Amino acid sequence: MADKEKKFCPRCGATNRPFYNGLCVDCYKELHSTELVSFPSKVVVERCPHCGKYFYKGKCLPSTYNSLQKVIASKVKSKLYKTKIDVDAAYNSVVITVSGFIDAEEQIPFKIEKELPLKIKGKVCDTCSKLHGNYHEVKIQARRKKGSNRKDYEKLLADIRHSTRKLRALDDRAAAFWEKKTREGTDFFYVHKQSGEEIVKAIEKKYNLKAKHSTRIGRKGRRKHTYSIRV
Ligand SMILES: [Zn+2]
Ligand SMILES: [Zn+2]
Repeated sequence: MADKEKKFCPRCGATNRPFYNGLCVDCYKELHSTELVSFPSKVVVERCPHCGKYFYKGKCLPSTYNSLQKVIASKVKSKLYKTKIDVDAAYNSVVITVSGFIDAEEQIPFKIEKELPLKIKGKVCDTCSKLHGNYHEVKIQARRKKGSNRKDYEKLLADIRHSTRKLRALDDRAAAFWEKKTREGTDFFYVHKQSGEEIVKAIEKKYNLKAKHSTRIGRKGRRKHTYSIRV
């Protein structure tokens, strides 16, 4: 205790505060805040204009506010211990609050808040660039058997859409799908083989039938699967 009373801040003359690295903590924070926490001059986030997913460290994150917060927080560099980053993003600006401790013993808390311009930049993701190039690995053909009930056929279409939505909730790759009405019925296209085949399996099980399967080699040598389902 006696030792603490002898301390004297060379910058502001204070004696009645905790000290860190030879300075009172207030002066230390003032002089070193940009080393402790550094912000970019503006925050640029990349987002797919089609599916809304955010780009994050070479991956894609789902289109949620949580993802946006995670991406923005990753632009801040902190040397604090137990860093906590709060992100409050508005349309074209964001308030970031960073808190933590200066010392490993977690005795000297530090908190800084900064408002920065926010720019959301459009960048088409891999899945959507395939999708918008008509790329697909699986096609499901929904067809109506001659003389069968129209309602059964419409139920099949509704079930395919429903299974797709359900799968999409678990696996956003399944979001990469589109449908097209043709003269013979409706075709459903899936960018990814696995998600398309999962839909086929769900329908086969539900209707207790086997889809007719055929393959052909598409452009760039990739195999395309067609499943034909008739009710
Ligand atoms: Zn001082
Ligand atoms: Zn996308």
